Amino acid sequence: MDNFAQAGVVENVTCPACGLLCDDLTVERDAASNLKVSSNACQKSVVFFNRASQSSSPRINGKPADLAAAIAKAAEILGNAKHPLFSGLGTEVQGMRAVMSVADKSCAVVDHMNSNGFMRNIQVIQNSGWQVTTLTEVKNRVDLLVVVGTDIVTNFPRFFEREVWNKESMFGQDTATREVVYLGGRNINTAPGVSPDGRQPDVLPCDIDRLPDVTAALRALVLGKKLYATEVGGIATSELEKLAERLKNAKYSVVTWAAGAVNVPHAELTIQNITEMVKSLNKTTRSSGLPLGGLEGEMNANQVSAWISGYPMRTSYARGYPEHDPYHFSTDALLASGETDALFWISSLNPDRLAPKVELPTVVFGHPDMKLEQEPDVFIPVAVPGIDHKGIAFRSDNVVSLPLAQLRNSALPRLGDVLSAIEQAL
Ligand code: SF4
Repeated sequence: MDNFAQAGVVENVTCPACGLLCDDLTVERDAASNLKVSSNACQKSVVFFNRASQSSSPRINGKPADLAAAIAKAAEILGNAKHPLFSGLGTEVQGMRAVMSVADKSCAVVDHMNSNGFMRNIQVIQNSGWQVTTLTEVKNRVDLLVVVGTDIVTNFPRFFEREVWNKESMFGQDTATREVVYLGGRNINTAPGVSPDGRQPDVLPCDIDRLPDVTAALRALVLGKKLYATEVGGIATSELEKLAERLKNAKYSVVTWAAGAVNVPHAELTIQNITEMVKSLNKTTRSSGLPLGGLEGEMNANQVSAWISGYPMRTSYARGYPEHDPYHFSTDALLASGETDALFWISSLNPDRLAPKVELPTVVFGHPDMKLEQEPDVFIPVAVPGIDHKGIAFRSDNVVSLPLAQLRNSALPRLGDVLSAIEQAL
């Protein structure tokens, strides 16, 4: 049993700072409970583990308050609301279970801060299904990786280190021979796609708003159609033809994207071009999609919502039973229309994801380092999952959940405990 009051070293720590959930970090704790990642760090994980302070305390209308008073005030606001909204939802599984419970009791809507991107994937699943793979499969089998419109390493810094240029794989593949193609986007950091022996990735850039055309063209070419245009989105058709052939000749290609990066009108149709192309490739070879996500606990929120309500994010309990609507129950739509009358914003993993500025009663359950631009009616700093308390998080590939460790003692309350207390006070 670790003594959290003393300095110590914790190995095999899971990092929840992005959806890769790397579980090989070593974190050192000093006698004052400050943390430092000492191995297998990336810049994002260093920021995550080093910055979390424990000195924040609750406030009501900007004035310091004790936790009980803050909970009572939050319960009063929730009890008076006719159509409350729980949004942000940056938390782990147990915190999200508490969100669903209090949302059910208070007839609220639930939506995640990253849903504008994430729902693009959900709409594809709902409309046509897809064939996607896991990070483990990528690590062990991929021979051609096509990255669509996404600067992977900005959000998932160790992706190439852990999943592409990994030294060992289960089936004896020489991972250094893997091929990487960046398709679409501009100013993308392609350096991590350089193989360990210095082979450059292929880069086919285009403006992000031309991705719909480019992905549709590539899908058509994979299906054996002839294109008469000489270029699509600034990419020579001959280059797309070569890529289509490479996809057909690969033994296990993987086409990856982050839905948040595919920020074009009706992006779900662009993603559907990718996933339907993958389905077509599987008539003669093996290919899979790999949607990258899991930032700010978006997988946790969607998984828990799905198993409790039967629906993903953007689900309302206003009628006393769960109803899902990807448009009308979005945070943006509810705030713009004035339909919601109280906002409950949660961001316990990232202090930089602030609540939208609104003229509504607002309660923020935030990371202790959160610097608010607009003081809410109630601010309750909560413990950081994976640092101040244990938890469970879902990885980007949505099928693997990993335990988050407690690394030190904390006086901050857990989100789940705070929400349960509010629910009981209703
Ligand atoms: S890549 Fe992501 S999960 Fe891995 S250490 Fe960096 S921030 Fe953490």
